[in-house]
Amino acid sequence: MQIQPLTSGLCIRPQASVPASGAEGGDRIAVGERPQELTRVTLSQLAARQGKDLFGILNEALEAVRAAPLSELDQERLARLAHEIPKVDLHRHLEGSIEPEVLIAVARKHGLPLPAYTVEELRPHIQITPTDKTLLDFLKKFEPIGPVFKDREVIADLTHGAIGDANKDNVKYLELRYSPQYMARAHNLDLEDVVKGVFEGVQRAADDFDTRVSLTLIVERWDSHERAREVADLAARHRDKGIVALDLANDEYNFPPGPFAQIFQDAKKAGLKITVHSGEAGPADNVRVSIEKLGADRIGHGVRTYQDPAVEQLAVKTQTPFELCPTSNVQTQAIANLESHPLKRYYEAGIPTLVNTDDPSISGITLSGEVALVSRQFGFSLNDIQKMQQFGVTHGFTSEESKRELAATIDSGFEKASRSLVESLTVDELRELALKGVDAGPGTGAEKSARCEQIERELKFLIQE
Ligand SMILES: [Zn+2]
Repeated sequence: MQIQPLTSGLCIRPQASVPASGAEGGDRIAVGERPQELTRVTLSQLAARQGKDLFGILNEALEAVRAAPLSELDQERLARLAHEIPKVDLHRHLEGSIEPEVLIAVARKHGLPLPAYTVEELRPHIQITPTDKTLLDFLKKFEPIGPVFKDREVIADLTHGAIGDANKDNVKYLELRYSPQYMARAHNLDLEDVVKGVFEGVQRAADDFDTRVSLTLIVERWDSHERAREVADLAARHRDKGIVALDLANDEYNFPPGPFAQIFQDAKKAGLKITVHSGEAGPADNVRVSIEKLGADRIGHGVRTYQDPAVEQLAVKTQTPFELCPTSNVQTQAIANLESHPLKRYYEAGIPTLVNTDDPSISGITLSGEVALVSRQFGFSLNDIQKMQQFGVTHGFTSEESKRELAATIDSGFEKASRSLVESLTVDELRELALKGVDAGPGTGAEKSARCEQIERELKFLIQE
């Protein structure tokens, strides 16, 4: 665990860092005859040895840990925690979610050509590597994927595999979006067949995994408006069978959203939800047009919104969520680097901010990895990350009943994960993290001091024989 010195100095603390040896500091809690032993064992070991109910004692400390910046945790602990918590991904492209392992297995089963048949050899063909720097490099990675969509059965297998990977990553609610035209293109498939193939994959996945899935169809903005209508009609026809929304994607820079307004308004009237890729490659004004003219319920990315404060305020006022995808946003150059990513700015401004993957197999990422990444970069706490997952539930395109169940799953999963984090800490590590949490949390100086004292009392009681 990396411990940074406290800045406020509100809490009475022995010293700035956890000593590796467990040596006693000035006013550190007296640990009796066995200081080294007691500071080295984890809380779960200590509680087991003393027969104490850990969470009957550690109320204030647990609260404080939930408010502590997760950037205080070491890499391994943060990765484990980010994996363990239940997550929601509202912005994931099916075509960009086919991991090399799944692609090879499906290609072998159906006799499909691939540039390579081992994961290591295939990876650079379909996944961003350190030498890939431009948007063109990013888009090139999709080239080997298109011809794989040979027929309905292959599409079903790939969909099932993509959901299985999300499930392994503890994604409890997943909105998969895809372009039926992209999938149909290489083998001139019937669009109905594409849609049915995806449905089959989703249905099989529902039997195998506890990840709930909703589907969104993508209108490709560089295509004709007739084709756009065709996709919108296709989505409307299959509403209630799992297709819940319509999206506008691809070349935002050359094809702004405005001309698609009527098609999207009609789709909304037909009962579909609307999400629009905006403010990714195009200006902030595209976000305004998407909200005001296309009736967007959510914005895909919205990264560049900060460039126009009036549009940012519009997103706050209308509570329009931004589906941000940190690694993808850097790889596609929507933003220069992660340090300047506006995710935290939007979160603090009051925009419902979501962390998503976009194209996890192309980007070589997982949602857990993205959660860990933004937690480390921006110092988010477990409370912050939980709030973002709950935004995902609230603004997900699913039924109220499903939202209620998901909200409960998220809350109980975070409770469990925060407890197992605490159990994995030593007494000293817990004290340091909890005090950071008090510092970062709300309240006056006097309230924070009282909280610190309560934490010290809890820890003292814990280690008393
Ligand atoms: Zn996208």
